[in-house]
Amino acid sequence: MGQTIVVLGAGVGGLIAANTLRLQLGQEHRIVLIEKNQDHTFAASFPWVMTGYRTSKQITKNIRSLVRHGIDVVVEEVTTIDCIKKIVTTKESSFNYDYLIIALGADLRSKLIPGLPNNAHTFYTLDGARKLHEALKDFKGGDIALVVSSMPYKCPGAPHEAAMLISTFLQRQSQSQKVNIHLFTPEPQPMPVAGPQLGEALKQMIESRGIKFYPLHKLVSADAEKNELHFEGKPPVHYDMLIVIPPHRAPAVLLNTGITNEAGWIPVDRATLKTKYENVFAIGDVTSLSIPGRWKPDVPLMLPKAGVFAHSEGEIAASQIVAAINGGKPAAQFSGVGYCIIEAGKGVAGFAYGNFMADPHPQVLLHKTGRRWHMGRIFFEKWWLSPFTMKRRIFRYVLNAGAKIFKVPVKL
Ligand SMILES: Cc1cc2nc3c(=O)[nH]c(=O)nc-3n(C[C@H](O)[C@H](O)[C@H](O)COP(=O)(O)OP(=O)(O)OC[C@H]3O[C@@H](n4cnc5c(N)ncnc54)[C@H](O)[C@@H]3O)c2cc1C
Repeated sequence: MGQTIVVLGAGVGGLIAANTLRLQLGQEHRIVLIEKNQDHTFAASFPWVMTGYRTSKQITKNIRSLVRHGIDVVVEEVTTIDCIKKIVTTKESSFNYDYLIIALGADLRSKLIPGLPNNAHTFYTLDGARKLHEALKDFKGGDIALVVSSMPYKCPGAPHEAAMLISTFLQRQSQSQKVNIHLFTPEPQPMPVAGPQLGEALKQMIESRGIKFYPLHKLVSADAEKNELHFEGKPPVHYDMLIVIPPHRAPAVLLNTGITNEAGWIPVDRATLKTKYENVFAIGDVTSLSIPGRWKPDVPLMLPKAGVFAHSEGEIAASQIVAAINGGKPAAQFSGVGYCIIEAGKGVAGFAYGNFMADPHPQVLLHKTGRRWHMGRIFFEKWWLSPFTMKRRIFRYVLNAGAKIFKVPVKL
């Protein structure tokens, strides 16, 4: 008998999960993908919008163009999830499911920062990145404070990448005035989720570009009138331009579902992405997955909220469901292996690859910066945003061939 698999959220994880399911399951099984926005935007390219290297249009695609034929796309907001009765509702409809994949990502809540000024920028949304680009073009010099407001946040490489891209952008603008970029974070080092070796390498990389790095700075509040930031136990810090990575929270629809932990995220089985409810999986940013190691004696490291993991978790959850429906063994289990391309400005990028779940702490290496990684990122973006035509196959072929040539164990 045909089964119904409902996927919530058509971001990175949801798109991969729905497409993998459609590829591997017979047409007698129904796949429903529910997403509140008509368009998908490729967040990894927001920093390029910030520097004017991309326009909003170039990194935005209609969801329907990114899914395989035979997936029911529903553009509506999910309003309730009942994991006991196995029903999901939207404002207009309700959907019974046999299997559910929750891929609703993380929401940004700037309002949680007391006193945050209206003119604070962020490149964590497409609109924010576009506005920041305009502001950088007009910037007359001074101190830029780039602040990671709290943990956890998406893509632990993004603040460092943004700092380096802004530095290059402002140099190219041939500023006569001096610009100082200050990067503040509550973390003890850059990307603690990737282990101490990578943290040190990334720190050297940003400092070599003149960016000042301030670890263990926990933002408490901002004072818009005085252009000041207040960090726990530190003297006030003045800024001329403020760029914030806002606090992240799980989507409100998950409240009262009984599926989340105290912090609001969904705990999942490390290997299978199963939640505590039967036939319910969660993938990507909405999950909470601890990994070996600690970033403070009493705080365990969590798997980073990153597209690369949402991607592989989408494949794993789909393969678990396919195996349950068709019989047989799931194709793979989640291993924690991941990678990250960090744009360093001037057309070069660094490439970090390794096992984020290695014991006693993550083991991730940062390869020497080079143009090849920058090109890899461009091809990845093109592949991701292409419809299911020959063009998509060509981009995938180029990416996989490039990975082989440069001995990168990544295959799409
Ligand atoms: C600036 C920036 C740069 C980044 N760079 C990288 C990078 O280089 N590499 C990398 O690996 N990762 C990167 N990331 C992180 C990456 O984008 C996320 O980790 C990834 O998108 C997570 O995928 P997801 O499927 O869990 O969530 P998302 O992709 O956020 O998708 C969630 C979807 O759920 C939808 N949704 C939410 N609530 C509802 C509801 N109630 N009803 C219906 N739909 C709903 C949302 O509209 C959204 O489409 C970056 C992120 C940012 C912001």
